[in-house]
Amino acid sequence: MYDWLIVGAGFAGSVLAERIASQRDQSVLIIDRRPHIAGNAYDRHDDAGVLMHQYGPHIFHTNSDAIVDYLSQFTEWRPYEHRVLGRIDDKLVPIPINRTTINALYGLDLRTDEEAEAFLASRAEPVEEIRTSEDVVVSKVGRELYEKFFRGYTRKQWGLDPSELDKSVTARVPTRTNEDDRYFTDTHQIMPKHGYTRMFEKMLSHPNIKIMLNADYREIRDIVPHRRLIYTGPIDEFFDFRYGKLPYRSLRFEHRTLEQEQFQETGTVNYPMSEEYTRISEYKHLTGQKHHATTITYEYPSAKGDPYYPIPRPENQALYKKYQALAAETDNVHFVGRLATYRYYNMDQVVGQALAEFRRIQEAVPLWTAP
Ligand code: FAD
Ligand code: UDP
Repeated sequence: MYDWLIVGAGFAGSVLAERIASQRDQSVLIIDRRPHIAGNAYDRHDDAGVLMHQYGPHIFHTNSDAIVDYLSQFTEWRPYEHRVLGRIDDKLVPIPINRTTINALYGLDLRTDEEAEAFLASRAEPVEEIRTSEDVVVSKVGRELYEKFFRGYTRKQWGLDPSELDKSVTARVPTRTNEDDRYFTDTHQIMPKHGYTRMFEKMLSHPNIKIMLNADYREIRDIVPHRRLIYTGPIDEFFDFRYGKLPYRSLRFEHRTLEQEQFQETGTVNYPMSEEYTRISEYKHLTGQKHHATTITYEYPSAKGDPYYPIPRPENQALYKKYQALAAETDNVHFVGRLATYRYYNMDQVVGQALAEFRRIQEAVPLWTAP
């Protein structure tokens, strides 16, 4: 009899396994239907020996000291500030749009924030109520830049027009009037020094934790006795799609290893206006690895495949709320993580959510004694 069965060995499941094992001294079985731990953050050395990310580039960034302190128990870090260029009209320009981007695209020489601000203001279209992912961008930079940078990329990535998506999606990418060309501005921008998988191995190395891979919850739920359950898979699947499927967006990753030291100038290059893929990422920028070869990944968005992205739009949120109500009525089960709470969360947010859930467990769930 395990005290806890945890479904999913990504950030949500692994943080909770570690906390429960080390702070409550209880037994945990953590399972994953994939053949590895670390969920979507899984990285590995490929056949050529290049450290790469199986499920696309994962860059760690957060403003939370507490989350960095927590993870620092399991890894050292290397500083890394992600930069992204976009191929726009045959030019490679910084994304997010900044002063350098504007000067390069329009052959201008704007020197100050104020000049860039005035340029954008002259193009921005007033929008009464900012509701959609189109509104957010058009109201800041106008229609032309919106079409070049956001419309095509978003249609590819989500299979929807930005006008059909919640504003929170494109609001992830700011617009700048300075020359800061970093993708993120968080106070912590760091990568686990030896990779994510190594960090997860340490997190799960507690003697109270057993790991079972290639194991689907549905196959083992009736044969592994457990007192409580933490579920980090898709919430609609847990309830056998009772109210219908929650839409998720998927990706097909095409990994290539090239016999050359470097393929592109920055960690990621976006293709908002052309190509079927959205972006190409090159891992050596992220990992700092020195190697004669390099590995890159093309991301092709798709409707079919593993659920990677919850799709933020009002009707999906309404459907999720119905599942959330079912979850609230389900005793002894905790739903945590990007898929189980249907939230477009970054890694640090999932760690924060899992640590908060652990605090609730500490308050609400008595420490029973094992028979
Ligand atoms: P997951 O990592 O998805 O883990 C859930 C696990 O549960 C999976 O391993 C799955 O196999 C398992 N599972 C599901 N159902 C079952 C079942 N029935 N039985 C057994 N196992 C099951 N975040 C960032 O902060 N920075 C980034 O740069 C970044 N880049 C990203 C790029 C891409 C392409 C994607 C898709 C995501 C990116 N993210 C990034 C988000 C990040 O991947 C997630 O925030 C994080 O991995 C979520 O952790 P999780 O534990 O909730 O879910
Ligand atoms: N986006 C875009 N063009 C870009 C970059 C982003 O239109 O060059 C939009 C797109 O809708 C994307 C969203 O902004 O899905 C969020 O981008 P982010 O880079 O945060 O996506 P993620 O890394 O989560 O896939």
